[in-house]
Amino acid sequence: MSGIKNIKFEDYELKCDELTEGCKFCILGEKLVLFITGICNRQCYYCPLSENRKNRDVIYANERKISTINEAIEEAEICGSKGVGITGGNPILKIDRTCKYLKALKEHFGKDFHAHLYTTLEIEEKHLKKLKEAGLDEIRLHPRMENLKDNGINNDVNKKELELNKLVEKLKLCKQYIKKVGVEIPAIPTMDDEILLLVKKINEIPVDFINLNELEYSETNYEELLKRGFSEKNDYSSRINGSQETALNVINNAKKDLNNNLSLKSNVNLKMHYCPSTLKDSVQMKNRLINRAKNVAKEYEIITDEGLIIKGIVKYAEGELNQNTSNVKDRVEKNDFIQLLEYNELKSGIDYEVNLSKSEIYLNPILLEEIVDYLKETGFVPEKEFSAYISEYYPTVDKLEIQRTPLITKKPKLNLKNRKKNI
Ligand code: SF4
Repeated sequence: MSGIKNIKFEDYELKCDELTEGCKFCILGEKLVLFITGICNRQCYYCPLSENRKNRDVIYANERKISTINEAIEEAEICGSKGVGITGGNPILKIDRTCKYLKALKEHFGKDFHAHLYTTLEIEEKHLKKLKEAGLDEIRLHPRMENLKDNGINNDVNKKELELNKLVEKLKLCKQYIKKVGVEIPAIPTMDDEILLLVKKINEIPVDFINLNELEYSETNYEELLKRGFSEKNDYSSRINGSQETALNVINNAKKDLNNNLSLKSNVNLKMHYCPSTLKDSVQMKNRLINRAKNVAKEYEIITDEGLIIKGIVKYAEGELNQNTSNVKDRVEKNDFIQLLEYNELKSGIDYEVNLSKSEIYLNPILLEEIVDYLKETGFVPEKEFSAYISEYYPTVDKLEIQRTPLITKKPKLNLKNRKKNI
């Protein structure tokens, strides 16, 4: 085996072997993350699930809370997904639901729609039969890291042996049913030796890959990580100190040992991957947002390089555009701002949109800035007072607004109608 390769992937350089199909879709943001349940029978101290998901029987397709298969399909379509990663919680605790969603996605998008699933060593033959039948392409097992930790106590040796043996047994079982089989674990600092041992152990059986994820803190695991002596790598990310070093150390040493020790049985197909948390934050998430934004942005909106959407908003007092429903059309048509857009031949139905219930007009943010500049320069004043601002928001279902930049702060004083001809 050679040393760790630097894989240039879009704008990100990865230190690992060749990527699995599941990883490729993930990095390109083309993976639908299907969180099938928050229920889990383990209590890993490093579990990063948020309060609204942990141990709750909820379903999310990417960041969208859903309750039907159709919503999952819709989300995959909107995001241009080419595959699905089924996660939780523990998906096998809701095996029938998992298989129903998986089967429906495969039927809708075709057999090339790649599907992988994360689960624990509680997986049994009955689950695998159902998953195979539903079309699962790849499975990733997660052993109990606490059982692998060697604290120098006799009992630990037994626990470790048992857990490793169980892992090997379950991987072999998975291999009988699922095409690609791997292990996915957090790279826990101080566990270099234990993880290296695990790599050597699974290298003796036909397993396809091991993914080492950089350990991250979240609002729910922070206290537990702190208690165990872990600390943040810096104050601008959620990375844990030493995790990256552990992952790279394990991969390098495993490759060295396998190259040097010819007596060691070697599975030359075992791929080792390190997945840094920045990859999730800055590449996967960004690509997924961009893919979603491309499908949901209106023609007058702009998509940023980060996958956010920007639009211009003109806001009137509540009810201004619809307070008297009998003459809404009249009211809208006579609206100064809409007349201004019409005068500039922008009233084509795609260059702006009127939201009657909110008394808002949405349009291209650059155009709005130009109009506002024009109003300021000329002293040109619409009849009705309005505010104008640029809104930047996530292309998610809740359209979470992250920034609002006001363009007009004072009420203008001149009259639009008198100056309209001069536009
Ligand atoms: S198995 Fe996964 S979901 Fe369950 S507690 Fe551990 S990290 Fe959390």
